[in-house]
Amino acid sequence: MKKDIIARAKAVILPYTPLNADCGTVCGKACCKGDKETGMLLFPGEDTAFPVKEKNGSCLCVCDGKCNRSERPLSCIIFPFFPYMSEDGKIRARADIRGINICPLIAHKDEVIFSKIFLRRVARAGRILAKDEECRRFLWETSREIDALERFYK
Ligand code: SF4
Ligand code: SF4
Repeated sequence: MKKDIIARAKAVILPYTPLNADCGTVCGKACCKGDKETGMLLFPGEDTAFPVKEKNGSCLCVCDGKCNRSERPLSCIIFPFFPYMSEDGKIRARADIRGINICPLIAHKDEVIFSKIFLRRVARAGRILAKDEECRRFLWETSREIDALERFYK
């Protein structure tokens, strides 16, 4: 059930990218440097073809900076956005402040014209994930983490 939900969430967003152009050309693909010390956070129950390491109770996918795009983790597909859940439970795409030191699109989010369909699909993926209790809790907790970091950066 959880695996189906993750697969459905991936399927709705997989064909889309944050810009209507390859954003990797502006930053030298900064989010795909294969940093073995960090990695991308996996969603609860998400399978990956990559090695996984645990950090502070979370599972991180560790890659070498190359992948088959259709098999990349959900966090990579939605980056640099997150299906943010507000305190009233509504879900929308929000620039993910956790990536501000990596992705120039986050620092310039107010000037960048993002793909509207990508943003809509990030939100839709979030609404699909929220049907699973554990994923919903993950969205909620991560959104509160984003709130706290936003306050820190203000
Ligand atoms: S770091 Fe940001 S701008 Fe660069 S490739 Fe990744 S998502 Fe695109
Ligand atoms: S899994 Fe793929 S998309 Fe994700 S960080 Fe690694 S190379 Fe980039």
